[in-house]
Amino acid sequence: MDTVVSKFGGSSVADAAQIRKVAEIVASDPQRRLVVVSAPGKRSKVDEKITDTLIACHALAAEEKDFRSRFAVIRDRYNEIAAELGVGSDLAPVLDEVEESIAGGATRDEVVSRGEYLGAHMIARFLGFEFADAADLIRFADSTTVDDDATDQLCQEKLAHGRFVIPGFYGAHVDGKIQLFTRGGSDITGSLVARAVGAVRYENWTDVSGLLSADPRVVDGPGPITEVSYHELRELAYLGAAVFHDEAVAPVASADIPINIRNTNDPGHPGTMILSRERQTNRRPGERTGVAGKTGFSGIVLRRSMLNKIANLPGKLANRLAEDRVPLQHLALGADSILMIVPSDALEKAGSVALSDLKELVPGAELEQVGPYALVGAAGDDLAIRPAVLGSVMNVLSENQIAVHFVCSGYSESSFIVAVDEDRYEDVVRAVYTATE
Ligand code: ASP
Repeated sequence: MDTVVSKFGGSSVADAAQIRKVAEIVASDPQRRLVVVSAPGKRSKVDEKITDTLIACHALAAEEKDFRSRFAVIRDRYNEIAAELGVGSDLAPVLDEVEESIAGGATRDEVVSRGEYLGAHMIARFLGFEFADAADLIRFADSTTVDDDATDQLCQEKLAHGRFVIPGFYGAHVDGKIQLFTRGGSDITGSLVARAVGAVRYENWTDVSGLLSADPRVVDGPGPITEVSYHELRELAYLGAAVFHDEAVAPVASADIPINIRNTNDPGHPGTMILSRERQTNRRPGERTGVAGKTGFSGIVLRRSMLNKIANLPGKLANRLAEDRVPLQHLALGADSILMIVPSDALEKAGSVALSDLKELVPGAELEQVGPYALVGAAGDDLAIRPAVLGSVMNVLSENQIAVHFVCSGYSESSFIVAVDEDRYEDVVRAVYTATE
């Protein structure tokens, strides 16, 4: 039988009622035999995610402050869910162990990973599935890289037969040391498992019915995205759309496994399919998939005669900024001036040091900080068949009296980015959305 890997996010496992929905979804398709779960997330806007409570407990313990009253919140939450699901209270020894490990100076990664660990134990019992520890499945090569071959092999050995619930968000080094992914990393766990077992589909269950073509708080009634390519999804994430974890795309994309974003609260909705171009059946020619953007950028302009003649100036400037922990986002070079766009918060943190470091590289240059800017763009694999699309965007921006400070296009055939004044961010998102329709 084919295997479907189903990952459920924090809101899908936030309480007993949500976990009952998970059980129904899993039971409705026997191919859903590998279930990956996040730690319980927020039940309401004011609630705290278990992961955040664990982070706070670890920080308190590290400062030798009382963390136990905070830990009691975690204990109560799991006990309440377990009681409501009728899976008994045998989580107590595991909760005790976690509490004592925090007191005993366990690493942050180890402590924080227990949110997923405890949740997966409980959900496995409720579903009647086996528990498979991610520490025995996801192997890290170093602190940022997964050992793909070892992970494939471990998953294939342990998950070939049977039905399992797997905690997301962490794995382990060969010596057993626990290592977390970055926040939202359960998406990556699901993707790695799906690739390893050759799943026919990787489902990502969340609290929205798939992706939308723009932020609904900015654009009125943006259309749903029914199909999107792996590449477009990465571009949209880069532009600022809060979607699926961008590092989770590569493992399944390399194996050509479709990702299906679905809504636990509306399981009948088909959601969004993320799949290779060859598998797409539902696209309009030249379609723009989505529009997204971010505020919080600054421009740094350096002016001096014949700047373009300085050998490798862009490289030198980028390196110097990196040394000051300011990531260079974009750069435009002219004859006598150069513009660099960087995140404002990083620039602020680096302070005047970053700016004087840049001036030192180009003696006699005049330096000006400009902005704040927003970066807004659109993505669509077939946008290239509409060569005038950027012209239409500029027309609409011009009609709306919006100044464009920088344009970036051609880095990919499927997207473009404009830098505009931050206070016009929403107008620009709407304008780009209309102009690319
Ligand atoms: N629980 C973790 C987080 O809150 C990981 C995840 O949900 O994917 O970031």
